[in-house]
Amino acid sequence: MKRKEFLKTSSALVAGSFLSPLHHSAQSKEMVRKNWAGNYTYQAEHLHEPRSVEEIPALVKKLELQKPLGSRHCFNNIADSPLNQISTQHLNQIVEINEEAKTIKVEAGVRYGDFAPELHRRGYALHNLASLPHISVAGACVTGTHGSGVNNGNLSTAVAALEFVTPEGEVVTLHREKDGDAFNGAVVNLGSIGLITKVTLDIQETFIVRQDLFQELPLASLQDHFDEIMSSGYSVSLFTDWLNDQVSQIWIKRRVEEDTSDMEDDFYGAQAATRDLHPITRLSAEHCTEQLGVPGPWYERLPHFKMGFTPSSGEELQSEYFVPRRNAVDAIMAIEKMGDQIFPQLLISEIRTIAADSFWMSPCYQQDSVAIHFTWKQNWAEVQKLLPKIEAELSPYGVRPHWGKLFTLDAKVLQSLYEKLADFLQLTKTYDPQGKLRNAYLNDTIYAA
Ligand SMILES: Cc1cc2nc3c(=O)[nH]c(=O)nc-3n(C[C@H](O)[C@H](O)[C@H](O)COP(=O)(O)OP(=O)(O)OC[C@H]3O[C@@H](n4cnc5c(N)ncnc54)[C@H](O)[C@@H]3O)c2cc1C
Repeated sequence: MKRKEFLKTSSALVAGSFLSPLHHSAQSKEMVRKNWAGNYTYQAEHLHEPRSVEEIPALVKKLELQKPLGSRHCFNNIADSPLNQISTQHLNQIVEINEEAKTIKVEAGVRYGDFAPELHRRGYALHNLASLPHISVAGACVTGTHGSGVNNGNLSTAVAALEFVTPEGEVVTLHREKDGDAFNGAVVNLGSIGLITKVTLDIQETFIVRQDLFQELPLASLQDHFDEIMSSGYSVSLFTDWLNDQVSQIWIKRRVEEDTSDMEDDFYGAQAATRDLHPITRLSAEHCTEQLGVPGPWYERLPHFKMGFTPSSGEELQSEYFVPRRNAVDAIMAIEKMGDQIFPQLLISEIRTIAADSFWMSPCYQQDSVAIHFTWKQNWAEVQKLLPKIEAELSPYGVRPHWGKLFTLDAKVLQSLYEKLADFLQLTKTYDPQGKLRNAYLNDTIYAA
């Protein structure tokens, strides 16, 4: 089945409810299991839920087709397997904080929001977070998940070392300093090299952040001052519905240093918000992290959404496209022209920046990037008609899709965008010679002939 048909078929199963509680041992397919958004029903016959890292080598060795499963926040079939999914939800401990090396080692299934408060209490921080703290560390890193900030690489750039178990049961550890190419190939790996058990992340002295929001930025200001606007804070996000020649909200997250002063009420023609806002302005801001310039720890300001609350809208689909940052304004203007077509299916769009990295399969490989994100209404029949049009508009600008969201880009085009793909395929063969980690997603993208 072609990728488009596959996604279409699976979206026919949409039900919008959350997973039922799961039990410890392997589960049979009769229990319908969905991803976080409820738009995709996993097809795997069995769900395994190991309680400890020590169980992994024997488990993966004995299983045939298999796939690690994180916190289920991807919108496509990347985390599925025809036979076995292995949930990492119980691999959720802090292993150690190494104050000398300035690193934290965690079990791979832990969610950022679960260990960030302890890290802060010990005086440390990560460099950045995604819009939500609810996602697993390994799941985020293998798909190139990112936050914003012109100088901030995606979340994988904090990875100093990885421990994973190949489907043959071999335990492999790769270090950024020692393992050069293999490390650069292995971090953003789309779930194709093994089950990551432990991740070592760089940490730094903890820091305080304030977020100041502005509303109704004239599009002309964005065109003329894109770089200044996106550089006006440590992490800056724009939210837009592509209507009225304006950006509806700007979220500026600044690290609070001694000389951090209040911002003026007028920011390139946008006005300072006078109340807390949800990115979708009509929704209550109760689920959002604190705003109006109130300082708080990094982990309670860098994400837009609070741990313990539903992030974003809940019943939604998502797509996201990266282009080199030098093409940002042209790419944004190309999408702006499609505003009337996009708006009926849209909940909100977000524009962020990500610094270049060295990971072969990262959409930001060796290029500073801008990401144009779409939170869609859960209406796949219509959204799937729009994606090829958006992809066509963005193609002159070197578009690459987010691996964990919905896209329709042709496999050949996709493959041509990754200059290290051949090396990556060789790497996956080294670690998974029998192809036990293959699934429909990988067959339709990186392995498609
Ligand atoms: C509301 C919402 C907001 C989001 N915001 C952002 C955002 O701000 N920025 C952004 O870039 N993305 C964002 N995303 C997308 C999300 O971050 C990614 O889809 C991410 O991959 C989710 O991690 P997960 O653990 O849920 O992965 P899953 O969906 O569970 O799995 C994703 C992939 O990771 C693999 N995997 C998981 N665990 C392991 C492991 N231990 N070892 C090896 N492979 C593993 C799986 O096999 C699969 O291939 C958002 C998603 C949602 C639902």
